[in-house]
Amino acid sequence: MKVDHLEYVVRSENRARLFFRKKRWRNYRVFCTACHSYKVSRMPDHRYRCGRCKYRFQDFTGCFLGKLQIPFRSWIWIIKLFELEVSANRIAQQIELSYPTVLKAVNLIRMSIVTASKPRWLTGEVELDESYFGGHQKGHRGRSVGNKIPVMGILERNGQVHVHLLKDVTAESLLSLTVKTVRRGSIVYTDKYQGYDALMFCGYTHLRVDHGKRFAQGQVYINGLEGFWSYAKERLAKFHGVSREHFPLYLKEMEFRYNHRDDPQGLFIRLAQNLLNSVPKL
Ligand SMILES: [Zn+2]
Repeated sequence: MKVDHLEYVVRSENRARLFFRKKRWRNYRVFCTACHSYKVSRMPDHRYRCGRCKYRFQDFTGCFLGKLQIPFRSWIWIIKLFELEVSANRIAQQIELSYPTVLKAVNLIRMSIVTASKPRWLTGEVELDESYFGGHQKGHRGRSVGNKIPVMGILERNGQVHVHLLKDVTAESLLSLTVKTVRRGSIVYTDKYQGYDALMFCGYTHLRVDHGKRFAQGQVYINGLEGFWSYAKERLAKFHGVSREHFPLYLKEMEFRYNHRDDPQGLFIRLAQNLLNSVPKL
């Protein structure tokens, strides 16, 4: 979104509310979020009542944005500063909300990113690799990974990256994730790790990178994923240690940012739109 439009929107609380409201209801047609009926009547204080199931709700009931009661202008600022990778601490200083409130807001943004990320089949030329995050000990591939978190990356060349947490790096874990994500018939590139040995029996053309002679091998490389790992690790380092519990949220944020890195203009709108999705029921 253009900066001048953003400045217009944040000038009043009502404009900010309308900005989100317009995205929440297509053509402003309010429907009951419980039974999807359009037989809805307005009540005072921006409330609605469903004529069919009698459910009472507001514009943002049930979506991520509605999970935190702060001014809509603050939401606009938080989304903008999150887009610019400003830390929750710095955001709290800049907009005069408490740090716990801002942290809750940015974690809602992250949760909405996870919910919006839809798995898609990857095809063509695909790179596979695993990496280890967090912890202090060096991870040992194929054996114990110490206190590090193993993550598998799957990258479609000239396309998107998908990252997944692994419980271990056994061949079984790596293969089951691959067959769920990469279409059969694709060309898959990996390094020489034995965990990938069975890929050729799963319907893929499997080519292995020999790190010793990378430059003599033409198309056989996994540089795309190595680029993503350094992109993600450089950003995660700024948080000075992410708890294990929150790590999946941060990891999906990195995936989201990386996959939209060529569209910085559209990032704000995507983030705002994600916040208006319904929070999934557990
Ligand atoms: Zn209803």
